[in-house]
Formats: sequence, structure tokens, C-alpha cells
Amino acid sequence: MFSRLQSSLLAAQILWRAEREGGGLTEGSLVSIDELQDHVEHLGAEEKKELRVDLENFLEFWPADSQQFGLQYISHILGVISCNGFTLSDQRGLQAVGVGVFPNLCMVNHDCWPNCSVIFNNGKIELRALGKISPGEELTVSYVDFLNVSEDRRKQLRNQYYFDCSCQHCQKGTKDDLMLAVKEGEEKPCQERVKEIIQFSKDTLEKIDKARSEGTYNEVVKLCRECLAKQEPILGDTNIYLLRILSILSEVLSYLQHINEAAGYSKRMIDGYMKLYHPNNAQLGMALMRTGVTHWHAGLIEVGHEMLCKAYALLLVTHGPTHPITKDLEAMRVQTEMELRLFQQNEFLYHKMREAALQNQPVQILPEPASDAPPPGLFQKKPQ
Ligand SMILES: [Zn+2]
Repeated sequence: MFSRLQSSLLAAQILWRAEREGGGLTEGSLVSIDELQDHVEHLGAEEKKELRVDLENFLEFWPADSQQFGLQYISHILGVISCNGFTLSDQRGLQAVGVGVFPNLCMVNHDCWPNCSVIFNNGKIELRALGKISPGEELTVSYVDFLNVSEDRRKQLRNQYYFDCSCQHCQKGTKDDLMLAVKEGEEKPCQERVKEIIQFSKDTLEKIDKARSEGTYNEVVKLCRECLAKQEPILGDTNIYLLRILSILSEVLSYLQHINEAAGYSKRMIDGYMKLYHPNNAQLGMALMRTGVTHWHAGLIEVGHEMLCKAYALLLVTHGPTHPITKDLEAMRVQTEMELRLFQQNEFLYHKMREAALQNQPVQILPEPASDAPPPGLFQKKPQ
């Protein structure tokens, strides 16, 4: 969700435009802002109170010499933003920078397993097909992350978008069992114990959020490790609570420069994601990229290159060839391919060059150890 300040700023832009150009359809639009759903009548008491505060704040800074709009119309605009707004991220997809309303896109319905995705590319919004779509098939996008059990996705959709999802995946609870998987083995853990661990994981995730917002990353690592130690004997490899911890732990460890350890956790995360996500899911593509980079930086060039290739193929679909992230990936794919070739030809030289690059020193080429030579640590430069 976006902040209330971002919503107010967008509302002001929409009203300024209405003042300048009048309401109604703008060029290329199939539907106008006035016609979009605002769901103001569905708001609960608490949300109504928030809306009133937002309205008062808005009117306070809305200039007196501009066209004045009725309270009902401003409420409509704020309501439209809240249920149709699309978070805009920076070019690298790392940070949310604002919110936008794209009337044509609001006509595309939700499905938890959609056939399209929406991406912001070079100042334009794009609706991209995730695979072959048959004539007459409805175009759908997902408004929420798939990595929640169907009951939780439906709850989120009801709270934020005011509808009950009746997609195939929700009706059948597809992949719910994988997302809540427990450890396979001789003895299945009892229901009570599983419940206990999931509650512990939820509590820990809250503590992690707090520690992350305070920037105490060593605390985050400690919390993750404690949680993982409890989860591992009980939860299965595709359990979303385990995957959430692995995702945070690998991200923070790689930030703290514990790259090798980060690579191990991110590999487990991606193996789980591959079994859960749609093969062309944008989040899966971004996670593959992150995991590939971590392996590359850890000197695990074979796995790193393979993952960057997979991420590139996926982002060609979800982001398209002109998107800045896809272009970054292409450059990394080419670079890792060269490094991989060197690695395959001469493993010793590869590690030597990598070490030198890490220490930012010029490469000192040492003679390669023959198969019967002592290990590199004992290796002496031969006199000329
Ligand atoms: Zn659904």
C-alpha cells in the first residue's frame, strides 16, 4: 500500500487536470476517472475516520484561487486511488516512488494465477502477456503476491479491493498444501507443534520488521537464525514461513558481506519459489536475479551464471527487452558467461583473478599448479 501523502499528491494532480481539461475521457482512455469504483460506501468506521482526516488535510492545502470541488468528488478520487492505485517504483524496481491511477488497467480483473502482468517501463505502463493467450480468453493480472495461502490472499483482496476471489486457485486451494508443508520423514510432526512453530514464525517476522526498520541488521540475522533452528525440524522446504525467513536472512547476510552463507540460504529459497510461483512470475524473476548475483559474488560462477540466464529469460517476458532491469541482466549474463568460460578453461586462474579483483589489486599471474603440485597455499613463485 502507498502512503496517505502519496495519495493526496496524486489526488491534487487529478483535480488540477480536471480543472485544466475538464473531467471525462482523456485521449486513449476507455474509461474515465469519474466512472471508476471508489468503494467509499464499503469503508468501515475506522477507514471513514481516516478518509475524513485526509479530506480536511487536502482542503487545507488546496489553493483558494483554484477551482473548488465538492467533498463528495474529492472522496471519490481518494477512494479510486486507494482501490485502483498502482505503486510506481524507480527504474531498477528497488524503491516505491509514487502512486498512479491508470483507468484502462482498472478494467483488467484479478486472478491469483493470472495470464498477464503490469510493469512500469521508461515512464509508461505496460500490460504484458505471461504466455500464450487464446482468443476470447479474459486478460487477468494479480493484485497480490501469490505466496500466501488462498484464505489469506482472499482476506487481503476483500480488505483492500472489496471482492471475494473466486479464481481456480482459490476455489481449489491449489498449492496451499505446499505452502504449509511439514517435514517429511518417519514421524510426521503433530498438528499442535506445527501450529506453534507457525505462530512463532509470525511473531518473529514482526520483530524482524521492527529491527529492519531500525537498521539493526545483526539483530535481524540473530532473529532469523533462531527462527530457522526451530522451523527446520518441523516445516517442509516449500513452507512459506520458512521461505520468508530464508529470503530475509540471505538478503541481510549478503548486505553484511557474508556472501557465501547468503548464497546457500538464497539457493534454498529459490528452490522453494520455483515449486510455488507461476514460471513467468515477475517476483520469481527478481528473486532469481538476486540469487544469481549472490552466487556470482561468492565465486560460484556456474550456478550464478545459470540463474542469471534463467532470470534474463523470465524478465524478457515480464519486463520486456527495453526495461532497465532486463538490460542490467543482459550485461550480467554476458559478463558471467565470459567468467564461466575462463573458469572452465583454467579454474586456478579464475580464482586468482577473482581474488585480485576482490582485493582491488593488479593480478599477479602465478604458474598454474600441475595435478601433482602442492595446494595453492603452499605454492611458491618459481625463480626466473
Ligand atoms: Zn484467487
